[in-house]
Amino acid sequence: MRLLEDKIRQCGAVLPGEILKVDGFLNHRLDVGLITELGKEFYRVFRNDGVTVIVTVEASGIPLAFAAAQFFNVPVVFAKKGAHKNVGNDCYSADVYSYTKGVSYPVLVSKKYLTADDRVLIIDDFLANGAAARGLMQIVKEAGASLAGVGIAIEKGFQPGGRALREEGVKLVSLAIVDSMTDDSITFREDAALR
Ligand code: 5GP
Repeated sequence: MRLLEDKIRQCGAVLPGEILKVDGFLNHRLDVGLITELGKEFYRVFRNDGVTVIVTVEASGIPLAFAAAQFFNVPVVFAKKGAHKNVGNDCYSADVYSYTKGVSYPVLVSKKYLTADDRVLIIDDFLANGAAARGLMQIVKEAGASLAGVGIAIEKGFQPGGRALREEGVKLVSLAIVDSMTDDSITFREDAALR
């Protein structure tokens, strides 16, 4: 999606360890207009997939999931990280290895908010190795719900998560795919740019 690519070129910074910093518009300060457009695009792509709930993980996925949910007119459930007392014991859980922090953490969703009748769209800000998406997919499976697809704002295409999910037949749509990045240049995959 050109709008997102332009914003990444303008405001993104490449950090050591192949981290793309986009906290000026996506995950610290929020560009509400841009995020709304990303939500609209997720709706355009997944609107015929019978989505009943959008699932994401706190905190960075929430604004994107919220933006998309307004177009789908469905609720958002965000998985909580770590052992929260206020989620209760009756939870689905999965362990996720954090690429940016280098540690694993549990993600939890209350059994009240995800059922076997649900058709789930997973949304997140980044896809790298796919650990966060797979953790959420495991929770969807545990709930007996079905997966409509996975919507990602920025996929780092030089890391293996996206390719593996596509090979498994998951409907994965990333609005921008970074094929390579250095301190002063970012190359995007063309098919994601055509949106
Ligand atoms: P994965 O689980 O696919 O390896 O990584 C995805 C998760 O790690 C996302 O939820 C995101 O928060 C974080 N992440 C991975 N790579 C980056 C990156 O380059 N920049 C930022 N800001 N977050 C990242």
